[in-house]
Amino acid sequence: MGEFELIDRYFAQLGARRGDVALGVGDDAALLTVPPGHELVSCVDTLVAGHHFPLDQHPDDIGWRSLAVNLSDLAAMGAQPAWATLALTLPELDEEWLEGFAAGFAALANQHQVALVGGDTTRGPLTISVQAMGTVPAGTALRRSTARPGDLVYVTGWPGDAAAGLALLQGRLQGQGANRGALELKFRRPEPRVVFGTRLRGIASSCIDVSDGLAADLGRLVAASGVGAVIRAAELPLSRALYALAGESRAREFALGGGDDYELVYTVAPSARSALFALAASAGAPACHCIGEIVAGRGVRVLGERGELPVPPGWDHFRV
Ligand code: ADP
Ligand code: MG
Repeated sequence: MGEFELIDRYFAQLGARRGDVALGVGDDAALLTVPPGHELVSCVDTLVAGHHFPLDQHPDDIGWRSLAVNLSDLAAMGAQPAWATLALTLPELDEEWLEGFAAGFAALANQHQVALVGGDTTRGPLTISVQAMGTVPAGTALRRSTARPGDLVYVTGWPGDAAAGLALLQGRLQGQGANRGALELKFRRPEPRVVFGTRLRGIASSCIDVSDGLAADLGRLVAASGVGAVIRAAELPLSRALYALAGESRAREFALGGGDDYELVYTVAPSARSALFALAASAGAPACHCIGEIVAGRGVRVLGERGELPVPPGWDHFRV
């Protein structure tokens, strides 16, 4: 099988069929129609084997994750996902791997009506770059730079679970049974908060997704906004599985410092709280927890019962 047969077999028809794809895989570039009055929202993320996922991870999970991390970025902008491109660098032509990868990618793409519209395929150390594109009504995208003092800080879901799942896979945390399965699944198959992100438009005053750790990503949001945040450790949502396997204090460390959550951290002005309550009570909305507030100043402070707790650093590829 050559390069073009490979593309044809696994990637030419992947994901949703969309009327706004005037030209998809097969030409020199794709032609996409952005609806009138909307802005194009575009992001890209690269996964390098051994750095962003364990070398022995299932190809299905790698395919899923490579799209999930990008859909999470679109969700944090409040964008409706539509299209993706895929730059794939492969050490060898392994059909079983390709089949699994394409299946995992397609499962998430179909769930969110994303069409794969192009890409590039080369040989080299396993590296996957996915570009995701979506749309928002012009002027309505969520940003990380618009939080204001007095806004409340919320997080979706159960931060820390995915990091604990990775720790289980790597033997840094012990546990068996349903709790182990639940945490590992959070790492293997993150569910980006796509629908919820779009519904936060007009309600959240700012938003960021959690990829490098709750404290670190909230730190980026407050730095971009020129404000500070105070988080109450007691309000951090800890899943039952995480609490059971890690114990309270280590669970909190996972929740604050662990990465790979792909949850949303967002701020809401007091005047928008009732709109948020209505949204949170609607069908399909994820769990939402208020964990603190935005203050004048800078940085993220975490208050425990007996004073301030150390803030864990997030993942940084170039930290020395
Ligand atoms: P070109 O040489 O013009 O850049 P390529 O030979 O790289 O084109 O790719 C041929 C077509 O296949 C293009 O439409 C490209 O977008 C698509 N393509 C290549 N690799 C992938 C991939 N991994 N996934 C999806 N589409 C791909
Ligand atoms: Mg090319």
